[in-house]
Amino acid sequence: MTDITRPSSPPAARISGRSFNELPLSPGMKETLRQLGYLTMTPIQAASLPIALAGRDLIAQAKTGSGKTAAFGLPLLTNLNPRRFAAQAMVLCPTRELADQVTQEIRRLARSSDNIKILTLCGGSIMRTQTSSLEHGAHIVVGTPGRIMDHIERGTLNLEALNMLVLDEADRMLDMGFVEDIAFIAKRCPANRQTLLFSATYPDGIARLARQFMRDPQEVKLTGQHEESKIRQRFYEVSNEDRLQAVGALLKHYRPVSTLAFCNTKQQCRSLLEALHAQGIKALTLNGDMEQRERDQVLIQFANRSISVLVATDVAARGLDIAQLEAVINVDITPDPGMHIHRIGRTGRAEENGWALSLCSPSDQRRVIDIAQMMRIKPEWHELSELKDEDEAKLIPPMVTLQMLGGRKEKIRPGDVLGALTGEAGYTREQIGKITITDQSTYVAVARNIAHEAVRKLAAGKVKGKTVKVRAL
Ligand code: ADP
Ligand code: MG
Repeated sequence: MTDITRPSSPPAARISGRSFNELPLSPGMKETLRQLGYLTMTPIQAASLPIALAGRDLIAQAKTGSGKTAAFGLPLLTNLNPRRFAAQAMVLCPTRELADQVTQEIRRLARSSDNIKILTLCGGSIMRTQTSSLEHGAHIVVGTPGRIMDHIERGTLNLEALNMLVLDEADRMLDMGFVEDIAFIAKRCPANRQTLLFSATYPDGIARLARQFMRDPQEVKLTGQHEESKIRQRFYEVSNEDRLQAVGALLKHYRPVSTLAFCNTKQQCRSLLEALHAQGIKALTLNGDMEQRERDQVLIQFANRSISVLVATDVAARGLDIAQLEAVINVDITPDPGMHIHRIGRTGRAEENGWALSLCSPSDQRRVIDIAQMMRIKPEWHELSELKDEDEAKLIPPMVTLQMLGGRKEKIRPGDVLGALTGEAGYTREQIGKITITDQSTYVAVARNIAHEAVRKLAAGKVKGKTVKVRAL
């Protein structure tokens, strides 16, 4: 997926105050950063970029949302020789979603040098297609350990020219049991490469993993950031009969633009979806039985703010990384306190505040005690009767997703879509949200009030010189 977002204003809480200009980056790269609205480095970037750009191995730890992708993306792109058509850098990620996100961010950063090919290699896509893409030569390979290992074993991925190996979300890759695969892959990379390891937390396994194949790594840890949590956690007592109804009441009271609602079972996800729809609340669910394309569509709509609520089990939400999440609702309390912390850690990122709202029946009390103990908190209890249902209209998502047939295969680029909407159709940049391009389709979020008209105008006009089939999702 290719994807652009509007340049976000630098979040005050997490900027280091230091400019990218002090780094040895090309003028083109500096211009790209300016265009992306990356005016100052985040703390982890300020701490790790000088080390990584100097060619040293690096272990960097900082919480989610702290800008780690650019912290390895910039050194990776700086070291690249676009005229050499061979894999020179490889990024390992725990899941396909994260690999897609890393690919998107590197594509954004690589904007000024247009001949750089980035290939995502993950399970769930056809091996043969990936192999033929590899034959055409990719400069950067991003993928999950399993699939990359497959390609190495079959001899379809040649690592002779590799000069940089990046492990992203190393803690999660450990959690998911990828240690051996990673070690296998690292052994096949040239010995004189540079290795960068990024992680949100620093479990013991990381040091052990690093010792196996990193050379005198420098360590940068910004643990302090994890404590100053912006998550406001509240617990509500409910009876099991009222549980699903209560989710709607929470949504109407807090009015978060994006909410991730966790259930413990798939069945509960389905029931919640029905209950929400009955209350006129837009929600979708993710589950393991979905095809990848369906899953992509759900994630795209949630991430671009045209769906307010995403309902999922822990398994289905694995690897999901959404930047702006105003609330996490624990529809069911998980019996695993560590999982609870993981769930609620998805909100309150970066400079934003986030709500973590949990519905607890009397039989959940034991679980809440365990959570409170592990988090060293005193649970803040609230009554459902405090919840007010004010203004129904506000729960409507701000954006609508338009889907156009034709994507990366047709060489559609975000600029083509943006051009069509801001040019002939006459919309402003502010009315257009995220643009996501998959192999077959292009998705663009537009402000809800212009959606109908935008479909008409796009269908009547041209994108990249061609008429397009377009519909609102
Ligand atoms: P992490 O990998 O640490 O979870 P990401 O790399 O995904 O974090 O970055 C989080 C968000 O911050 C992204 O939307 C990214 O575009 C944005 N971002 C990264 N660096 C900067 C910067 N220097 N200034 C402003 N925004 C930034
Ligand atoms: Mg990351």
